[in-house]
Parts: sequence; C-alpha cells; structure tokens
Amino acid sequence: MTESTHGQPYEYRRVPLVEPDWTRFPGWRDVTAAQWESAQWQRAHCVKNVKQLRAVLGDLVDDTFYTDLETDQQRLATMSMLIPPQMINTMVPDRVPDTASFYADPVRRYMLPVATDRHLDWPSHPNATRDSLHEHDMWVAEGLTHRYPTKVLAELLSTCPQYCGHCTRMDLVGNSTPQVSKLRLELKPVDRYDAHLAYLKAHPGVRDVVVSGGDVANVPWKQLEAYLMGLLSVPTVRDIRLATKALMGLPQHWLQGDVVEGLNRVAITAERRGVNLAVHTHVNHVNSLTPLVARAARMLLEVGVRDVRNQGVLMRGVNATSKDLLDLCFGLQGEAGILPYYFYMCDMIPNAEHWRVPVWHAQQLQHDMMGYLPGYATPRIVCDVPFVGKRWVHMVAEYDREHGISYWTKNYRTSIEASDDEALSKLYAYYDPIDTLPESGREWWRKQIAE
Ligand code: SF4
Repeated sequence: MTESTHGQPYEYRRVPLVEPDWTRFPGWRDVTAAQWESAQWQRAHCVKNVKQLRAVLGDLVDDTFYTDLETDQQRLATMSMLIPPQMINTMVPDRVPDTASFYADPVRRYMLPVATDRHLDWPSHPNATRDSLHEHDMWVAEGLTHRYPTKVLAELLSTCPQYCGHCTRMDLVGNSTPQVSKLRLELKPVDRYDAHLAYLKAHPGVRDVVVSGGDVANVPWKQLEAYLMGLLSVPTVRDIRLATKALMGLPQHWLQGDVVEGLNRVAITAERRGVNLAVHTHVNHVNSLTPLVARAARMLLEVGVRDVRNQGVLMRGVNATSKDLLDLCFGLQGEAGILPYYFYMCDMIPNAEHWRVPVWHAQQLQHDMMGYLPGYATPRIVCDVPFVGKRWVHMVAEYDREHGISYWTKNYRTSIEASDDEALSKLYAYYDPIDTLPESGREWWRKQIAE
C-alpha cells in the first residue's frame, strides 16, 4: 500500500450502504420500487444474452463493448451469461455509466467478462483443468464430495440465479457454452438427496455439511427444507452451512415470506438439536453491498441462523488490492452483518489467468490486511491446492518464484487416497499465473509447452 498523507496505509471511514438508482439505466427507467424488491421480477428480468443487455444499457456503452462481449461468449467464456438486475445495478453504481466506466467496473469484470480482459499470450495456465479441485473425482454419491476427513460438500443442483465468469465449478454449473459442454447430474433430485443422507448415516465421522450447488437459492424451498430437516435428523451432523451467492446477487429471494418462514422452522430445529446453522455467501467487491443485501442478511440472523459469513474470491482487476479488500470487509462487518471469513485465490480453471494472482501477492495482501479489522473478522486468504484443500497462503512449504511453482503439504487423506502411503509425505504443486513471472520463468514455460 502507498503511505497516505495521514500516516496510515489504510484510512478507515464509515461508509453507509446505498441502493444505486436503477432508473439511471434506460431499460429500467419506469421500474418501481415494488417491482425491484420482487424476487419474481428480478428473476424474470435477468440478463442472459447481449440483446437483453442492450435493452437495459441502450446506447450508454458503444458497440465495441457489445462486440467484445460477443467474442468472449463465443471463444473464451466458461460460463453462460446470467445476471439479475440487482447485480447489474451495482456496476458503476454512482453515475450513469459510459463505455470507459463500464469497462473499468470491478463487478462487470467478473460477471460480464469480455475478450479483451483476458490474456492473449496465456489465457489459461498449461496445468489448468475443468474440475481443478477434483471434486468430481471425490464424489461418494452423486453431488457429494468427501475431501476433508470430517466434512462433505453437497451439491444439490447445478444452477444458480447468477453465473460468475470465474466459477470454480464451471465443469458442472450453468448452461454449456460454445467452449464448455457441462456435465449433468443424472439422478432425480429426491434420489440424489436420499443417497446423501444414506452416506451421512453410514459415516458418523462426517459432522459438517456444506449445502451448495450451484446455489441453494435455486432449490425450490420445500425441497430444500426437506433436505435440511433430513440432515438435522442425523444426530452426528453438527454443522450445516448453506452456500448462496444469491444473498448478494438476488437478496429479494431471501426476503420472500415463504423462505423466511421456512428458514425459521429449520433454524428452530437446528437450535433445539444443538446444530450450528450458518449461511455462506460470496461477495467480491464492496459495491455489491446495498441496503437490500444487508436487510436480507439481517433477516437470516433474525430468524435464527447463527452466522452469515462471506467467502470472496481474490481477482486481479476486481479486488486484489488491500484497500479493496479492507473496504469490502468493513462494509460486510460494519454495515451488512456478514462476517468476512475467507478470500480464496482464484482456482486454476481454463481462461482465468487474467484474474489469478500469484501466491506472493496473496501473502502480501494478507500481511497488509492484518491489524485493521477485529481479529475474529480478519479474513484468511487461502489457496485451494488441488488434491490438498484450503491452505492459508503463508503455509507454503517451498516456493520457486522464478517458475511460479509453490509446494504444499497436507495432514489428512482425501476419500481417494485411503491406500496411498505417500499421501501425507509428498509435496503438492500450485502454479502462479505465467504473465507474473520474470522473463526467464516465462521462457521456461514456453519451452515446456513446445516440447
Ligand atoms: S454463484 Fe457460485 S456456483 Fe454459482 S456461478 Fe457463481 S461461483 Fe459458481
């Protein structure tokens, strides 16, 4: 961070949340507050293609942008387009956008990526893969990943109310794009859910279930409530965490009467059984925090959810400065009632190099964030190392900066390593983006590829 004239590298100022004025967009000039606050209206007016984006923005941005976006959709995008009005309204929130400000906007950069955002030389790391965390390899039932000893990830469905350009589950989540044919869940939801419960009953050592997708906001409420009540009937399940970016992207969903009442029933049952019920969301920039988001987060707490936490993703051009991260954390913690919990380094999926940051940069950011927030609300920046899992970025065992290869250790076996004698003694590699390496390192990678 550069030293400010006031003597502190970061100056905290309380900034109240503001709902940006959606009528600044030509397509929403006549939209009323009642329409805006309706989840149904938001879902029906999501932007799914360039034509619909034009209908909202009109001539505010010029044709260059739309062509750039179309090129990206055809040639590079790993996620199809789906953005609720709530999220578009947080792009260039304080004025009428023009082409330059729209291009530069941090939320636009990851929700509406364009071809010129990506790196021409190294759009993908040579070791990038579709399912970079190998979650699918670790399925013990359809959609149930058993990677850590005491925890499972339950993917209930493969859709979300919004699709993020950098989605780590691009293998499975969303509609196919010209570049990526998505995997499909094959079982009927009810059979998939039964298989999850059967596994949990048969494995009492698993005590913690992350209920995700996709986004649980796309599971019809009755189905989700039945699934959660099923989990609560397994006495060995002690933690349940619901993953929903929609808390930020479509807060209107979590404010609907039937959802609020249903969640209250689940929270009361969890409380009676001594189970920790929490909600995890995914906010990457302070501009995404609006009064509606804060209202939805507070509602979750009021109905008895024990905590609402944020897991953001660290991305260049979006939030990879300590000021961006601290602004976001103070907004979450001080204004929205959401605990800043983790920032993940962006995973090694295809065409994500322009977003990814090297490990040394993540370490620097962690250093620069320390000491400003309450200790319990100071997020950890973590690297999700393939075949290992989350490691705090300072836990690197060895680091070859020239070639951008960090090496990590682990202290547990995943579900596919029961008979691997070396699983706990070997080193696991993670790779920095090649464009951030010194010329000698870039040259080394060019040669590796040529061979
Ligand atoms: S909300 Fe989560 S699962 Fe859905 S597209 Fe975004 S990152 Fe992927």
